[in-house]
Amino acid sequence: MNQTKIGIDAGGTLVKVAYWENDNIVYQTFPSQAIGDAISWLYNTFKNPAVCITGGKSQLFAEKLTAPAEMVVEFDATNRGIQFLADQQRYAIENNFMFVNVGTGTSIHLVSDREQQRIGGSGIGGGTLIGLGYLLTGVEDYAWMVQLASNGDRGNADLKVKDIFEGALSPISGDLTASNFGKKESMIAQPPSNADKLAAVIGMIGEVIVTISLQMAAQHNVDFIVYIGSSFRSNPLLQDIIEEYTRLAGTEPVFLGNGEYSGAIGALLSPD
Ligand code: ADP
Repeated sequence: MNQTKIGIDAGGTLVKVAYWENDNIVYQTFPSQAIGDAISWLYNTFKNPAVCITGGKSQLFAEKLTAPAEMVVEFDATNRGIQFLADQQRYAIENNFMFVNVGTGTSIHLVSDREQQRIGGSGIGGGTLIGLGYLLTGVEDYAWMVQLASNGDRGNADLKVKDIFEGALSPISGDLTASNFGKKESMIAQPPSNADKLAAVIGMIGEVIVTISLQMAAQHNVDFIVYIGSSFRSNPLLQDIIEEYTRLAGTEPVFLGNGEYSGAIGALLSPD
């Protein structure tokens, strides 16, 4: 019987799925907590799926399938997916670039002559937003969290350089963050809203990630960074911070459409 190849990236927070329908790739997402739903969907949708799977939860996922799945090395799959999306979206990706995958955590990779190498990472990532964001505000839903954050003012929680210099000449731009969540005295006088707190969490995550990424780009002589991961979904605040700082450093940021599916696409396109 004809088999349909399905690429799956079973991550810490989300299971991403990619498959061909005519000449287009179709995408699906499920929460990793509800792996059973993803599996029911798979068998309800396809009679005879040939599953190629990658990601931290791939083993767990594969054990629940009725037929053996092909296991795909995650970082290579992501790299393959990025190259595919970049070609499709007509980005002229250079031979030497970095990709930064902002998933539950953050993983940083150098690509030279199409081969990737993991050069670093950080536990600060999308999981930090939903975990720390929940602790600070009690909000559990991701969509609501990012929606709230878009109306927040980080300035009610973060201390800027100009807040310290109070009008005196500062050696660096007054608009830079001097201390994330550092505005303690003003916060006592006027507690920040949930929206302000979430905007400040996103600001802190973005600044940490972009700082590490730019240091690595300088170290490896890279002037092109591809940012991917579901943490950018409906989250323009995070994208804007990372984009702005990357450009300020003279490095070109690229946010690929459907970039969060790079791993699933790479699994789908894995050699037979
Ligand atoms: P992983 O592969 O580790 O699951 P992803 O690239 O899928 O990582 O990114 C996960 C992050 O994406 C979450 O930590 C959260 O910040 C964000 N996110 C986007 N959409 C959702 C959603 N519907 N539910 C939960 N988190 C989401």
